[in-house]
Amino acid sequence: MDKSEQLKEIRDEIWNLKESPLYEERVKNNAYPVIGEGNHNADAMFIGEAPGKNEAATGRPFCGRSGQVLDSLLKHINLDRKDVYITNIVKDRPTNNRDPKTDEIELYAPFLDRQIEIIKPKIIITLGRFSMEYIMRRYGLEKEFDSISKLHGQNFITSFSYGKVSVLPLYHPAVAVYNNNLLDSLKKDFEKVEILIKEAHEPKPLF
Ligand code: URA
Repeated sequence: MDKSEQLKEIRDEIWNLKESPLYEERVKNNAYPVIGEGNHNADAMFIGEAPGKNEAATGRPFCGRSGQVLDSLLKHINLDRKDVYITNIVKDRPTNNRDPKTDEIELYAPFLDRQIEIIKPKIIITLGRFSMEYIMRRYGLEKEFDSISKLHGQNFITSFSYGKVSVLPLYHPAVAVYNNNLLDSLKKDFEKVEILIKEAHEPKPLF
């Protein structure tokens, strides 16, 4: 099966995830699960928290206010959405945009793990504390785990089944909607994404 087919399988499973506590609400609101979008061969994968209202209405990640901030940050480093892959840990909208609960993260995270295994990004950028905590604890960085204000912008190298991956925890773009200091901090951190992508393409010595 090629990558698109494998990702479609994940989409179909989430679509029918009746055991999710968020499923009924999705159906009641005629809403969509948000699986993820972008380049299936991307070097960089961005992982947010969970869909909000706009995302659940369209099925697309980061298409509201936080999405505008994310787009401006990508533009700042000359990237476009089509160059990267964007997804969330939790694939359905938590009621009234509340924080995702632990059992919701546990239920949806295996889909994220599979997306990572299919796309094989070299750089994983977590947006906000929920995806930071999940990725760090799941992929061998539990000892380094700390608050996002301490860890944002630091590059942690860890091993995935397909090789070494840089994990870069960043603030969630929503924090920058009304806070210019945090927007500046996010811009500086995004410049590290640009450097990591360039480094991923530098020729490495064979021996
Ligand atoms: N916030 C997120 O974490 N993800 C989205 O897709 C939108 C807003």
